Amino acid sequence: MIRHHPSDATLTAYAGGMLPEALGLVVAAHLYGCAACRETRAMAEAVGGAVMEALPPTAMTEDALALVLARAERPMPRVAPLSRGEGERSLLPPPLDACSFGPWRRIAPGLRFRRMFAGERGIAGLLEAMPGKVLPLHSHTGLELTCVLGGSFVDGADRYAAGDLAEVDEGQPHRPEVDGSVPCLCIIATEGVRLHGLLGVAQRLLGG
Ligand SMILES: [Zn+2]
Repeated sequence: MIRHHPSDATLTAYAGGMLPEALGLVVAAHLYGCAACRETRAMAEAVGGAVMEALPPTAMTEDALALVLARAERPMPRVAPLSRGEGERSLLPPPLDACSFGPWRRIAPGLRFRRMFAGERGIAGLLEAMPGKVLPLHSHTGLELTCVLGGSFVDGADRYAAGDLAEVDEGQPHRPEVDGSVPCLCIIATEGVRLHGLLGVAQRLLGG
């Protein structure tokens, strides 16, 4: 059962195509397994469309059509329950099918990171941590989104399991710890350009 969801602000930004693509991948991974958030997104899209229709027409910029076409070509997440199975690949929801991945890189004992996206704004990748692993206390610039794909972690009073999305705002230090007996696999993204803490280490290792 999914307990942790993106904020309304994040979902609305995603629905309006305003979220940096790296963060959008994490939201897409969550939406795949979360009917409640899919409903909220549909409502946000409907409201957004109605607002657009009510606005007086304005002159379009030269690249407006190209931008709309580029957005239309982007694959939309398929809607189905989270797949269950063995191995890392089967833990990845279909919205991540089109992503390319770098090699796994060890960033600390019991902790590895696999980069999957480097946009103009943000970095995204898969993070795998072994049971009992405490992630280094870190804070970061900008928003950080994490969606659990397998296993679970606790952060303060909250526990995050498969499908849950953790949203942490700028400057909020946190210290997630993997609980349970299986490794925790997450997709994690941040919009920060200068990364601190854990992802900063990954960024330096990967030369990002
Ligand atoms: Zn949700």
